[in-house]
Amino acid sequence: MESDITIQPQELLYYNKRHQIIICTSCQYAIQPTALDRHLKEIHALHRHRRQPYTDYAARLPLKHPSELLGTRSSIILGEDEDFPVPGLPVISGLQCLDPGCGHLCVSVKRMQSHWKAEHHKSGCAALDWQSVPLQTFFRGNLLRYFTHPALSVVKLADSSPESPDHQIRAKHDAWESHADLAESDKSLLAHYLQSTHLSLANRHGNARLWQISVPRIAASNSFLRHGILALSAQHRLNTEQGQSTDRQRLMGAASEHHDTAMAAFQASIDAKPSSALECHGVIAFIHVYTLLYFSNYGKDSPSGIEDLFLADASRPDLGYLSPWLHYVRHGCHLVCGFWDTIGNGPLASLAASWEIPIMIEDERSSRIATILISALDHDCFDGYRISDQLQDVYVQATSELALAINAAQEFGSALTIWDAIRLWPLTLSLDFVNEVKKETPRSMILLACYCIILEKLGDAWFAEGLSTRLFSITCTKLNKGQRELLHEVTQRITSALR
Ligand SMILES: [Zn+2]
Ligand SMILES: [Zn+2]
Repeated sequence: MESDITIQPQELLYYNKRHQIIICTSCQYAIQPTALDRHLKEIHALHRHRRQPYTDYAARLPLKHPSELLGTRSSIILGEDEDFPVPGLPVISGLQCLDPGCGHLCVSVKRMQSHWKAEHHKSGCAALDWQSVPLQTFFRGNLLRYFTHPALSVVKLADSSPESPDHQIRAKHDAWESHADLAESDKSLLAHYLQSTHLSLANRHGNARLWQISVPRIAASNSFLRHGILALSAQHRLNTEQGQSTDRQRLMGAASEHHDTAMAAFQASIDAKPSSALECHGVIAFIHVYTLLYFSNYGKDSPSGIEDLFLADASRPDLGYLSPWLHYVRHGCHLVCGFWDTIGNGPLASLAASWEIPIMIEDERSSRIATILISALDHDCFDGYRISDQLQDVYVQATSELALAINAAQEFGSALTIWDAIRLWPLTLSLDFVNEVKKETPRSMILLACYCIILEKLGDAWFAEGLSTRLFSITCTKLNKGQRELLHEVTQRITSALR
């Protein structure tokens, strides 16, 4: 490879100080010290005198022998505080065995199936017995050993030797699992999250396990996610438990304190741009936690009660006047853009899938709902609220999407989740429409009030209890008498179309 000759030794041979290895930046794998000369000769076709600067450079570096790095296990365990992905090595989309204590890593379903036959004496099945996880390997060939970060690993990775240097790391890991460094009151909040609250975050793809296992682990190294989880747990208890007023007072204090701490740390992380894959996993998980917190506080007369217009927030020009939760849900992938591939290969991959726009059911019923809503836009109660042709298009667009959304939500029935409710309509809206909501224009208030038909279906979930009623009454205060009458008529006609 002629071009390699001009590459400086430290450019071709990236030295990873933490693991004390050299990684060939051209081949993207680590080279064991004794094999360097041969690698340069055979792979890069360098003659002896040209190899000299590279081997001289490597000879000056403290390097570990592969056996020190790999140990005797079938997988390597990284420390909680180590960066992942390890720079210079590609990230591979892999699988992890979910059998307790196993955690075997490989890269194909076929290999995972033979692992299950050989080690667990049955044929495993996808989703239940393994899950996707991002992998790396330092070496190729017979030194190939896959690894991932412990925080992304659902099962504890097997570690047979108690004297191993990983022992301390494991101890630290266990410390989090028994929540040793949390205050007593926070421990009980975390326990409540692990026992029950995490189920509220699950989507229709059944990813409860992820919220119960992976996310708390990621939260161990992530202040905003940790406080977000604790705030959500406190809010959950407040909404679902009857208790003495002193207890409630204490929970309210904890909910608002953790909420504020989480928001400040999250904002700081976004302002500084998340710089590691782990932090990005934290961002994606936090957006979900924050959205539930927002829904559960909306319109409530509580310390963290929210009084904006659900979709729009006039006090946030920095977010294009979107409500923060909607801004984060819409732009989450931009916030973590450099690490999207790693996330897509990891345990949070299914969260990304939960935002996929579902198949809209466009049928006779959806067009009936669309006709009801679109004809309402021209009602005489809006005389004096003229709009330009361009804005008319914006309204027709939002109205047609709402008709499809109401129809699809009806099809989902009791299986409808909060994430469905969000992707069905708020995610589809144009910024021009959100701007109309911000200005509290009567037409946009009527559409927002009709969206409550969808939110009402979430009413059984603790975080959505009373949400549609609160939003509906807030929008009604923005309408005059004639417009309220129109809203009443429109909702009645939609309700009967849904029967
Ligand atoms: Zn190479
Ligand atoms: Zn296994």
